[in-house]
Amino acid sequence: MPNEYDLVVVGAGTGGYVAAIRAAQLGLKVAVVEKQKALGGTCLLWGCIPTKALLEHAHALKIVQHSKEWGISIGQSAVAIDMSRVQERKDRIVGGLTKGVEFLFKKNKIDWIKGTARLTGQGGVEVFEGDVQTLAARKEIIVATGSAPRSVPGIAIDRTRIITSDEAIHLKQVPKSIVILGSGAVGVEFASIFRRFGSEVTVVELLPRLVPVEDEAVSAELEKSFRKQGIKIHTGAKVTGATVSGAGVDVSAQLADGTATTINAEYLLVATGRGPVTTGLNAEGVGLQIEKGYIKVDELFRTSVPGISAIGDVITFGTPGHPQLAHVSSAEGIIAAERIAGQHVRPINYDHVPGCTYCDPEIGSVGLTEREAKERGLDVRVGMFPFGVLGRAKMSGETEGFVKIVADKASDDVLGFHMIGSRSTELVAEATLALRLQSTVEDLIRTIHAHPTMAEAVAEAAHATHGAALHS
Ligand SMILES: Cc1cc2nc3c(=O)[nH]c(=O)nc-3n(C[C@H](O)[C@H](O)[C@H](O)COP(=O)(O)OP(=O)(O)OC[C@H]3O[C@@H](n4cnc5c(N)ncnc54)[C@H](O)[C@@H]3O)c2cc1C
Repeated sequence: MPNEYDLVVVGAGTGGYVAAIRAAQLGLKVAVVEKQKALGGTCLLWGCIPTKALLEHAHALKIVQHSKEWGISIGQSAVAIDMSRVQERKDRIVGGLTKGVEFLFKKNKIDWIKGTARLTGQGGVEVFEGDVQTLAARKEIIVATGSAPRSVPGIAIDRTRIITSDEAIHLKQVPKSIVILGSGAVGVEFASIFRRFGSEVTVVELLPRLVPVEDEAVSAELEKSFRKQGIKIHTGAKVTGATVSGAGVDVSAQLADGTATTINAEYLLVATGRGPVTTGLNAEGVGLQIEKGYIKVDELFRTSVPGISAIGDVITFGTPGHPQLAHVSSAEGIIAAERIAGQHVRPINYDHVPGCTYCDPEIGSVGLTEREAKERGLDVRVGMFPFGVLGRAKMSGETEGFVKIVADKASDDVLGFHMIGSRSTELVAEATLALRLQSTVEDLIRTIHAHPTMAEAVAEAAHATHGAALHS
């Protein structure tokens, strides 16, 4: 006899585990199948949490490196990062959070079924780990199997010298040198971490600018700061091959001007994106529509097979693309769970999804870029305000960057916020709420921003959008 549940969730990442908790809160009997030894998926085990922990170490090191400026005396000893202590602390943080999810499962009476799931059709799931267990979902199955790093043609990841983020977060020593292929969030975050830790870092990006999904002004500011920090950058450049040689790797690339070059480094980190995980799931066997490996869903996460939903990094809507972000997977999990429990739900507005990149200086953005707004035929006006003018920025020694607002000229509606600089990943929360509440630039101007804060740059950028910031 199969074990019966209302809902069976496959995968305990930020999509799956949040969907399970929400469904249990709404009274459903829930099981989650997870093959890893810990709960939390990519975000907790190899993604958001470990990388941001390393970035906090990098930030701490930055302060210590500037100790004289802060009037802190640290004696004669050279400042150095102790990677084993760094890794220990990072692992402690990850361990605490995964245990926290286990606790939430117990609190909500969710069963964690350990093993690898295979869909068998008609609400059935087989779980393999030693013996085979059979589960039956009375209402629905949610597939939340996530994503894994993928390479580009011609580059074979060996996980030793040619690595992905999965290996980069566990490095026991600071690389002497590293080439990073790709300048999306993962690429530039590792560039910041390793540069601050002392590595020679080279970023190679195929497109003409860093962080290509961001507003062009943000890309330009990041490039300026990275170059100042000593990060080498090749944009518009194509990596054509990589050969492991002794204790390093030779990376061949064709640069923007057409010249061919070879860069030797201790590691090549391939950060060119992530592909869906459906191996062994029998997705096609049960009739799920698959597009380029992703599971096709509608706007409420229903797949082509009644009784099976899918959320998170493993899904596609067709076009446009689907953002692979932890908070997006959780938001989708909540909506899927509420729908399955019989609640009325609405589709997500993907124009209002905030994106944060925790490089130094960090980036927070939400809504349309200036170019996207213009491509949609909107008549826009923009306002920018530099953080460097603010008292709070001067006090913290973090004076780089700006807030940029894109607004509709006729209605005054805010369309997008693009911030680069210290605390931008926190400031984006205000920006996201402003979009959600369909705020105008005037609303932002009339919202009193506390002093002294970095958030004052949001109000000032709003003033600038109307023609005149007060402090610049
Ligand atoms: C280095 C890095 C940094 C990142 N930083 C951020 C960030 O700062 N902010 C952010 O929002 N996003 C970040 N992300 C992206 C974020 O981690 C993902 O978008 C998010 O984890 C996706 O969640 P998910 O639930 O869809 O899938 P996942 O978290 O990938 O979870 C899928 C789970 O399913 C399990 N699984 C797969 N197949 C089976 C099966 N057949 N049976 C049982 N279990 C199975 C897997 O073991 C895994 O635990 C980062 C990613 C990386 C790689």
